[in-house]
Amino acid sequence: MIECGVAPAGKEVNLLGLDRAGLEAFFATLDERPFRAAQVLQWIHQRGVTDFAAMTDLNKPLRARLAGLCVVRAPEPVSEQASADGTRKWLLRLDDGNAVETVFIPEPDRATLCVSSQVGCSLNCSFCSTARQGFNRNLTTAEIVGQVWAAQHRLTQLDPPRTITNVVLMGMGEPLLNFSNVVPALRLLVEDLAYGLSKRRVTLSTAGLVPMIDALREACDVSLAVSLHAPDDALRGELVPLNRKYPIAELLDACRRYVAGRAHRRVTFEYVMLEGVNDSEAHARRFARLLRDMPAKVNLIPFNPFPGAGYRRSAARSIDAFRSVLLAAGLVTVTRTTRGGDIDAACGQLVGRVRDRTRRSRRVGELAVECDS
Ligand code: SAH
Repeated sequence: MIECGVAPAGKEVNLLGLDRAGLEAFFATLDERPFRAAQVLQWIHQRGVTDFAAMTDLNKPLRARLAGLCVVRAPEPVSEQASADGTRKWLLRLDDGNAVETVFIPEPDRATLCVSSQVGCSLNCSFCSTARQGFNRNLTTAEIVGQVWAAQHRLTQLDPPRTITNVVLMGMGEPLLNFSNVVPALRLLVEDLAYGLSKRRVTLSTAGLVPMIDALREACDVSLAVSLHAPDDALRGELVPLNRKYPIAELLDACRRYVAGRAHRRVTFEYVMLEGVNDSEAHARRFARLLRDMPAKVNLIPFNPFPGAGYRRSAARSIDAFRSVLLAAGLVTVTRTTRGGDIDAACGQLVGRVRDRTRRSRRVGELAVECDS
């Protein structure tokens, strides 16, 4: 269910979760003009204001009315860890006692916030520690955007203050299984009156939910990343069980449709480097062949270990050799440096606090991939 502007009796509307269209619809229910949405968006997302009394370009009766009907509430940081390399990780508490993790990764030329989309994850990829936590529920739009709001709030307090230039939906969860809440969040990220990020700087990463990749193209124009991890269906089916439902050929067709007709756009393919599993030069050659006619770039992610993972990170020389094969095939290929490893903030290490509501055996058997829309 998308959060709409009208609250059920006794429940306040959290304006943090409404995109511009949602806010305009909300103000229409109050017989207020649409420009109120523009004003409130700027107060909340650009100035970080949560108190309606401080929204001085709204008339006083409207401020009082909003205070009675609505809130602006972001998830609360319960802990912050700072890595030696500048990476910061927050554990954010949600209203129901669950918690998710959000990571800030500064680099010389940009600063990326890695945001979660679900409490836990139902996809059960074999090398991911989030999968081991189980799945509880989708995050609301307010909880997704609230991670950006809360991080920005905290980052402006630092000396010197930092700003977020990029947002990636690469934290906990599968964003395309939470489509109806994720899309308004993406719209707020690229909305000039809210975070104003360019669509190239907002990236949704998916394990490959084919129909929802097409739906995303229609709903919101952001950058797409796909967790591929293997060059053939047999191996990918082991690592990413979703592949049994949407095999590689169908997934790559969806990627081609996603970028078709869009100038200068590429899909990013993520590939976790697992020693002795998917990291040989033969794997690299097959991978390069798959992407032959794809506007693509490749991110190689050295596996980040966690207790009981059952995998090891590929040796640096294997990763280099793998990368050389892709480069020789003309593919832009970057090896992701592991950031925040000392605070368990690297890819696949986010665990949050998840009250698992699924039984693992059932999840594996049924491939819990039903979409919510
Ligand atoms: N469900 C989405 C979003 C999660 S993004 C997706 O699959 O794309 C998190 C990224 O980190 C994915 O590419 C995921 O495959 C990768 N990852 C998961 N566990 C990892 C680990 N232990 N080491 C390195 N990368 C990992």
